[in-house]
Amino acid sequence: PETILVGELANRMAERTADVVKSLMKMGMMVTANQPLDADTAELVIEEFGHRAVRVSDSDVEQVIDTVQDKPEDLQPRPPIVTIMGHVDHGKTSLLDAIRNANVVSGEAGGITQHIGAYQVTTERGSVLTFLDTPGHAAFTSMRARGANVTDVVILVVAADDSVMPQTIEAINHAKAANVPMIVAINKIDKHEANAQRVRTELLQHNVVVEEMGGDVQTVEVSAKTGKGLDTLLEAIALQAEILELQANPNRQAQGAVIEAKLDVGRGPVATVLVQHGTLKRGDIFVVGEQWGKVRALINDRGDRVDEAGPSVPVEVLGLNGTPEAGDVLNVVETEAQAREIADYRISAAKDKRAAAGAATTLEQLMAKA
Ligand code: GDP
Ligand code: MG
Repeated sequence: PETILVGELANRMAERTADVVKSLMKMGMMVTANQPLDADTAELVIEEFGHRAVRVSDSDVEQVIDTVQDKPEDLQPRPPIVTIMGHVDHGKTSLLDAIRNANVVSGEAGGITQHIGAYQVTTERGSVLTFLDTPGHAAFTSMRARGANVTDVVILVVAADDSVMPQTIEAINHAKAANVPMIVAINKIDKHEANAQRVRTELLQHNVVVEEMGGDVQTVEVSAKTGKGLDTLLEAIALQAEILELQANPNRQAQGAVIEAKLDVGRGPVATVLVQHGTLKRGDIFVVGEQWGKVRALINDRGDRVDEAGPSVPVEVLGLNGTPEAGDVLNVVETEAQAREIADYRISAAKDKRAAAGAATTLEQLMAKA
């Protein structure tokens, strides 16, 4: 659509509708929450509120993504967020486990990593990497469809004894569509049927040109079983991250993406949030999808309680009033009133959408009967 409703715009920026209406009044426009704004006006408002408008296409302002504009001097390097993809049984889970376990110092207090949906490791040379613990194309695609871009680097796992298979090709297409750089982990190199060269050649047939063939896609031969090549893989990711110059401003109100959420019997609703901008702190008031809350506790991937979490850090968040969905965006706001208003708006907007969809079906049914 070429327009966006005032209320929806406020919602996307996590601002109060009344404040957006006020700001439009200052510009000489008398509007209500349900009035549409054209793209240029919407962009003015967005900038007025210190956000940056991202137009997915020239006409689609509904896709405005809430990203506060940071000054270059406020930006600091942040760890890359890594997702592992590949064909079934090629070793995605084994690789994630091997990387996690290799990084846990045995005997270290609290050293056992918790399965909270993501974890961080430190390479031998001291780089920090964040791994999403939910491999799979479905998770990647559904998060992206919901506007949550939570992957900086894709690790494409290809078993050296099986080579390129249908889901390998699917993963290549996802990574390309998302414009995310890829590193190929040629896994199961310990097997005597392993043929890494065949993998490289077959990748070429799918327009993935690896370094050995004169391209720029790094490959690393690994074994999730023996641990061979894991350090090299981690350093390759760190190198790729350096090239990407990933940055975020840790010194502002947090924004993050929900990667997992559940209703815990003892603890109530719990969401694992990957912080993308700013720093999430205990006591922060936030809105996340149709839910809101106040951070009661933050728990990291080691199961330790922490006071805050900066960019690219995954944490479990306690203190929600309900369970959000994976892919929901969390925004810290100033007041509980603001959080409640935004959550209420989203709930009623979702209801309207369902009602509209329901009405359409009824109409279709009527037409079909006629
Ligand atoms: P996923 O479906 O991609 O998550 O694959 P899994 O991690 O479940 O692995 C599938 C099978 O391959 C399991 O039986 C693993 O034990 C085995 N496997 C995974 N990595 C390796 C490896 O490096 N070497 C060998 N020999 N077997 C592996
Ligand atoms: Mg698996």
